[in-house]
Amino acid sequence: MKLYQLSVKKIAEMLARREVKAQEVLESVAERISQVEHKIQAFTTLTLEEAQKTAMDIDRRGEITGLAGIPCGIKDNLCTRGVKTTCASKMLENFIPPYDATVVNKLKSDGAVMVGKMNMDEFAMGFSTETSCFYPTHNPWDLARVPGGSSGGSAAAVAAGEVFYALASDTGGSIRQPAAFCGVVGLKPTYGRVSRYGLVAFASSMDQVGPLTRDVTDCALVMNAICGYDHRDSSSREAEVPDYRDFLQTDIKGMKIGFPREYFLDEVEPSVREAVKKALLKYEELGAVVEETSLPHSKYALPVFQIIASAETSSSMARYDGVRYGYRDENAQDIAEMMSNSRGRGLGPEVKRRILLGTHFLSKDSYDAYYLKAMKVRRLIKEDFDRAFEKFDLLVSPAAVSTAFKLGEKTEDLSGVLNIPANLAGIPAMSIPGGVVDGLPVGLQLMGPPLAEGTLLKAAYAFEQGSDYHLRTPILEV
Ligand code: GLN
Repeated sequence: MKLYQLSVKKIAEMLARREVKAQEVLESVAERISQVEHKIQAFTTLTLEEAQKTAMDIDRRGEITGLAGIPCGIKDNLCTRGVKTTCASKMLENFIPPYDATVVNKLKSDGAVMVGKMNMDEFAMGFSTETSCFYPTHNPWDLARVPGGSSGGSAAAVAAGEVFYALASDTGGSIRQPAAFCGVVGLKPTYGRVSRYGLVAFASSMDQVGPLTRDVTDCALVMNAICGYDHRDSSSREAEVPDYRDFLQTDIKGMKIGFPREYFLDEVEPSVREAVKKALLKYEELGAVVEETSLPHSKYALPVFQIIASAETSSSMARYDGVRYGYRDENAQDIAEMMSNSRGRGLGPEVKRRILLGTHFLSKDSYDAYYLKAMKVRRLIKEDFDRAFEKFDLLVSPAAVSTAFKLGEKTEDLSGVLNIPANLAGIPAMSIPGGVVDGLPVGLQLMGPPLAEGTLLKAAYAFEQGSDYHLRTPILEV
């Protein structure tokens, strides 16, 4: 085995015992990147030189702990001081933030080695990484397929061995769906559990930062590093952060698991449904009590999300006016033309479509009929979950309606219906490798009540220990 193939946990142990140098770990990753990146296109920016300096510093340290010395990737909508943060948009193509996002800062103070910024759908709007203004990312399991999105670069790089883990964001499935498509672990924490300070806003009432890793243990390790209150984020939660390693246990006897029938309907491909049913049987074997349940309002999640997310987008995108940030048309004759051309040329079609929709939904004549109505249904969706969690410790479903589809094949986010309810309700949800169909990974989604990340990790760990899906890696000929 090469170093780049090992887990975060294993590398951390080897670094702590001085069995390997941070510089050697980085070299292994850099070599892997040079072999496969031209096929995957997971990065928007590589920062190997800077990474080299960090690795040297780590090797000089007396004691190496936590994530120190371990190469990672950061989704390109998280601000990184001195390093381009593009959101995969022409608008921010040359934007270099003067500060780090809180999560980036936390990783840096832990000694993490950032090797680059990860490709994504433009401003995180999409589900395949095809709306990136640069290039699409390819799925390491089959290069003709998408890695999912919007965090496709992050998930693909983790699966391909280009980074040990990555940080990404999830507003309506953007961590879980790519995790499912790439066969890795992705966790969207409770809204407010991880700071959003320095995360470029898409829809602020749902945006949440979380990890993509190769296994559940690594997920717990990264969660330990990024969770916690931040006074710079007004929606940050003050709840205490446990040591998530304590939840890595296999005894889940008596755990109550519900499977919402609305998540197993026709939209889900039969083979994926079968794989998830098999996973539920596994949970029964492990001693969990598995029962069907219902989340009746989740069928409205997609339209509700489209209204609320585009309304929030129309507001958060207003700052890109050619004056304050990013792309500016230098040849315009007056300020109106300058703003219009800057936005017109700097933003891609998907982003514009959403700004237009959102502006419409917030207009005087539509506000009550759309935005207000959507907010009311959002509450009903949340109350469905509250009721379900009175009875169940967690809910299990497919994380995506299919396995990874081909590039150019789909124009609609079919998996959103499975992912979005958790964002609307603000609850934690994760996707873990839960099966294989025709050689492609299937994602198993686990959802829990607010702040129950530990329960999710425990159930995920128990499943993982009884399966070998997480041990499979894509064969990338080099
Ligand atoms: N796929 C959804 C969208 O296109 C959600 C994306 C996300 O979570 N950032 O808006």
